[in-house]
Amino acid sequence: MNARGLLANRTILAVFAHPDDESLACGGTLARAAEEGARVVLLCLTRGEQGSISDAALVPDGDLGAVRARELREAAAVLGLAQVVVLDHPDGQLPWVDARLLEAEILVSIRHFQPDAIITFGADGLYWHPDHVAVHERTTAAVAALNARRPALYYVTMPEGTMRAVVEAAPGREAAEARPWGLNPDAFGAEAMPPTLVVDVAAYAARKLAALRCHRTQMGPANPLARLTDEQARDLLGREHFHGAPRASTTGFPLDVLGEPAAEPPTRAIL
Ligand SMILES: [Zn+2]
Repeated sequence: MNARGLLANRTILAVFAHPDDESLACGGTLARAAEEGARVVLLCLTRGEQGSISDAALVPDGDLGAVRARELREAAAVLGLAQVVVLDHPDGQLPWVDARLLEAEILVSIRHFQPDAIITFGADGLYWHPDHVAVHERTTAAVAALNARRPALYYVTMPEGTMRAVVEAAPGREAAEARPWGLNPDAFGAEAMPPTLVVDVAAYAARKLAALRCHRTQMGPANPLARLTDEQARDLLGREHFHGAPRASTTGFPLDVLGEPAAEPPTRAIL
């Protein structure tokens, strides 16, 4: 924390579904915001117990959720987060968890931490993961339910082709067989919301990579991010993109001080 940084006395709340979402979606920005004086808090709605296990030795008792919660705390320390709140909703089931309950829990965090800005998934959930889309919907609804002191809401977006470029750059394996988290790299950002803010996180790309690698159970040798060099990360992951929700905020858009506006998205006719 930096008492004289660009975000001194600000609080940023990130709301995501699984341990590792925070690092992949916006780890550079979270680290930079913390360095600029913000208190950065993460609310993670599941422990990710349905995720893959890169090496059985990492989960000797079979309790992947507990291991991933620990990995998340290590990643949070790398990113400089002030606090992590991990809920225990069933991984993979968020769309079917009572929406009012999830919204109420997100509101509890908002009322407790009083964030100036909230970061969460966009409508595409980065690659249409149903849990991610549910987090987008519930967080949007929770913010909309606030009358006073409504924080600015930012959705993470990823330009199409970002993960494809990572796959092709990562040394040591055929790009054709590299599937980050078992996913088609072209799925990332394929239908992302247009960014309104671009944050330069080149100086934080190595920390973003290090935070991702704290999630060891999710980072097997097939994952190109396990092999990317810091220099490549700077080039390929050194800019993070956000879409500011077009909703009246009583706090302004505090993260805008970290970046520059993205090129004007094409205007869409309303009628
Ligand atoms: Zn996720």
